[in-house]
Amino acid sequence: MNIHEYQAKALLRSYGAPVSDGRVVLRAEEAKTAAGEMDGPLWVVKAQIHAGGRGKGKFKEAGAGEEGGVRLAKSVEEAADEAKKMLGRTLVTKQTGPAGKQVNRVYIEDGAGISKEFYLALLVDRGSSRVSFVASTEGGMDIEEVAESTPEKILSFSVDPATGYQAFHGRRIAFMLGLEGAQIKQCVGLMGTLYKMFLEKDMEMLEINPLILSDKGDLKCLDAKMGFDSNAVYRHRDISELRDVTEEDPKELEASKYDLNYIALDGEIGCMVNGAGLAMATMDIIKLYGAEPANFLDVGGGATKEKVTEAFKIITSDPQVKGILVNIFGGIMRCDVIAEGVVAAVKEVGLKVPLVVRLEGTKVEEGKAIINNSDVDVIAADDLKDGAEKIVKAVKG
Ligand code: GDP
Ligand code: MN
Repeated sequence: MNIHEYQAKALLRSYGAPVSDGRVVLRAEEAKTAAGEMDGPLWVVKAQIHAGGRGKGKFKEAGAGEEGGVRLAKSVEEAADEAKKMLGRTLVTKQTGPAGKQVNRVYIEDGAGISKEFYLALLVDRGSSRVSFVASTEGGMDIEEVAESTPEKILSFSVDPATGYQAFHGRRIAFMLGLEGAQIKQCVGLMGTLYKMFLEKDMEMLEINPLILSDKGDLKCLDAKMGFDSNAVYRHRDISELRDVTEEDPKELEASKYDLNYIALDGEIGCMVNGAGLAMATMDIIKLYGAEPANFLDVGGGATKEKVTEAFKIITSDPQVKGILVNIFGGIMRCDVIAEGVVAAVKEVGLKVPLVVRLEGTKVEEGKAIINNSDVDVIAADDLKDGAEKIVKAVKG
């Protein structure tokens, strides 16, 4: 689960990490008062969407002004004006995809004077099963690009959970960033705070890009991106309250209501599969035969007819879907339940694209009979390879 920058900064502030003063604004009329509560002489107006690269982003609509989703203003009036231009408009960045995201909130901040920009992140490193720090002198940049072109400018190490965070971890980062004197102590303190926060709040990712050295010589978190482990959010009421469903894919949101493991993707073949491993294998084999999956969907082991019906409806509601592959290996999941769900869903929403069904395992004969006795137009498949070949052929001709 992701949260907005202004929410992440409030959390940072509550842990004592240095961030600028700021106000979130939902309606244009509030912008001037909000900006007026800060002294200036510089204000920063920032579009709040769950995607990075806002500074270099572009608005779709005319009237949003020229620059991207992070703008500097030199007066209260100018700041309010920039906020008005952004609210309600659609910002497209490298991370939003071509559709972009509507800006429903802007954050007006007390602008900082920057002397240096750094990159800092904490993440769960699955390789070492530890929390890792990633730091770089190349702040404000796309870290993937830095990793590609100048990997020597990135420092990365993990923290042994047996010892936890130690001052030497912070010093390693401070020296890498070229900090001096009191800044080193500040860095050691800040890294410890971030590590503590990361663990206490069950984060998956915390990215401060840029972490800056201000013109006054202090460290400050100028941007903040936080992701939380969805499986642990139930332990943190304060975090779950920060969820902004308007930022989520409507199909994924609908799927989460039915407890379906669904992730929307860019391809043309909708998949309904049971089991995460089989779902991955199904996506792989679709790619192998030259097409792209439109989603990942694991209906799970104990899916009911209603759940399967909803899953099928979500798949067919995606206009990108040009064909559907149902691939079920019935172990705990029964093939007849899947068949009933598919037939019920087709009756309800109709079937406008080719449908390939591969059923195997528990109650497979009953499942096949349900489909054969319905008037659903199905292409039957014998195994995974056959299913993938048939759906790709049906879609690509
Ligand atoms: P992103 O583009 O979505 O990553 O948004 P950021 O919050 O990282 O802002 C993009 C860039 O705007 C930063 O790298 C800074 O160069 C600049 N910026 C953001 N806040 C301030 C500020 O308070 N003062 C100044 N001078 N520049 C800022
Ligand atoms: Mn940033």
